[in-house]
Amino acid sequence: MGKVYLVGAGPGAPDLLTLRAAEILKRAELVFHDALVHPQTLALATRAQKILVGKRSGRHSTAQSFINKRLVDAARKHAVVVRLKGGDPMLFGRAQEEIDALRRAGIDSEIVPGVTAATAAAAELGVSLTRRGIARHVVFVTPRTAQGERENGWAASVLAADTAVIYMGAGLAQAISTELIGRGKPETTPLVLVESATLPERRILCGTLADLPALALGAGGGPAVVLLGEVLRAATADPAVAAVPEIQAYLNLRRA
Ligand code: SAH
Repeated sequence: MGKVYLVGAGPGAPDLLTLRAAEILKRAELVFHDALVHPQTLALATRAQKILVGKRSGRHSTAQSFINKRLVDAARKHAVVVRLKGGDPMLFGRAQEEIDALRRAGIDSEIVPGVTAATAAAAELGVSLTRRGIARHVVFVTPRTAQGERENGWAASVLAADTAVIYMGAGLAQAISTELIGRGKPETTPLVLVESATLPERRILCGTLADLPALALGAGGGPAVVLLGEVLRAATADPAVAAVPEIQAYLNLRRA
């Protein structure tokens, strides 16, 4: 009986991978990976057969139950099986379903954490998500629900939070902005959209909650997080961030 490692690949840049993850990839016989994992990260798994199993919203993806079954089957044939996920496996990655399926089948599993998109975006902005006197709590939230799932209270969480990081939200920009403003979040709340954090094609778009739909139109279709809250005010005013060409272009657009 083999073991399945649920490994965080980090947000994009291949060198944002833990040493532990790299060591396990080297030993892997089989790697089931997400679409967002960088080719250089996959290349570390020199011995392994690599199998793409998912998951970009709106596109074809492998059903979760089928992935669970494949992991179980693989562990019955191979000693080291890796399930490689973008960011950290324990955030918005359906890791629990895989862990539970493995447990039910009596298969050993181990989790290797990774750098999640929220903290990668914060690093790129040079903005701490918490800050004494301004932000004492942070929520990681997604407005995206599975088909048939009840509305998940994401908006209430954002309203209550000092800082919010919204995952899988760029395609829902208009709905997010309308919902939050409708519930009393100030239109002027500072907001930054960070797309493809840590990758060469990165884009940073800054504005306010009211600007979110416009900012989303300026994004290029890569994975994006939306950060909002008072801590971002400094970022939108910071000359270093404002020197990013995309931000300049956006600010000019608004002034015109
Ligand atoms: N487990 C992952 C999240 C998976 S859900 C993590 O911990 O980061 C996929 C969502 O993550 C995307 O829709 C986007 O909101 C976010 N994301 C992943 N990579 C990103 C990146 N490089 N830049 C910005 N957002 C990213």
